[in-house]
Amino acid sequence: MPLILITNDDGYFSEGIRALRDTLKPLGRVVVVAPDRNLSGVGHSLTFTMPLRLRKVEEDFYAVIGGTPADCIHLGYHVILEGEKPDLVCAGINEGPNLGEDITYSGTVSGAMEGRILGIPSIAFSAFGREEIMFSEIAKSCRKVVERVLDVGIPEDTYLNVNVPNLSCDEVRGIKLTRQGKRDYKEKVFRYRAPYGETLYWIAAEEFGWCPDEGTDYWAVLNGYISVTPLQLDLTNYGAMKEIKFIEDEG
Ligand SMILES: [Mg+2]
Repeated sequence: MPLILITNDDGYFSEGIRALRDTLKPLGRVVVVAPDRNLSGVGHSLTFTMPLRLRKVEEDFYAVIGGTPADCIHLGYHVILEGEKPDLVCAGINEGPNLGEDITYSGTVSGAMEGRILGIPSIAFSAFGREEIMFSEIAKSCRKVVERVLDVGIPEDTYLNVNVPNLSCDEVRGIKLTRQGKRDYKEKVFRYRAPYGETLYWIAAEEFGWCPDEGTDYWAVLNGYISVTPLQLDLTNYGAMKEIKFIEDEG
């Protein structure tokens, strides 16, 4: 019976994490360890400068007070599971997509990255939608991916970034293996005047904006497919090594 560890960056109370937990539960033992608050955009942050607290919400369901998704995977593995290695780490289902360069900010994708660093096959799941997200339907699509990964496995040092269109499981057109797309940046800084005169700033995306090149993560979800992008821990740009050879200095 597989052991599956789940986290997210939206917080333990989110609809997406419960839908994923409920849908995966028939497959094996599913343990949830998630932040106590919404930490979307926290990336791969690990907490070194303060202690963390664990709270049991229900059986096999924990919140980490002040913990990031990466912290949650650590505490889940080392404390809750007492070092028993999960067969799979899942992060999500995130409320909103994680496409293109946005994955570098994503706590959801970083939860899966942390699982991979600990040597565990890992998958990040995100919903391609902002409103009226059909989490229970999306969770069924996620389960299909999970079942295939548990059956066949994924290469070492690889983790998967999965985005699911906001469609019923039957309406989804299939699963596409994709490459990371490109963001068409539309972030804005909003300014506010505080009651005592100070100017405050709020960074927010105005709307979705990605280049719709065929074969990318964005193209797949836009066209009704589940997007599966294989990611790796090694960020080295091997293609650039020859061009940047000039930087070397033998002294
Ligand atoms: Mg989020």
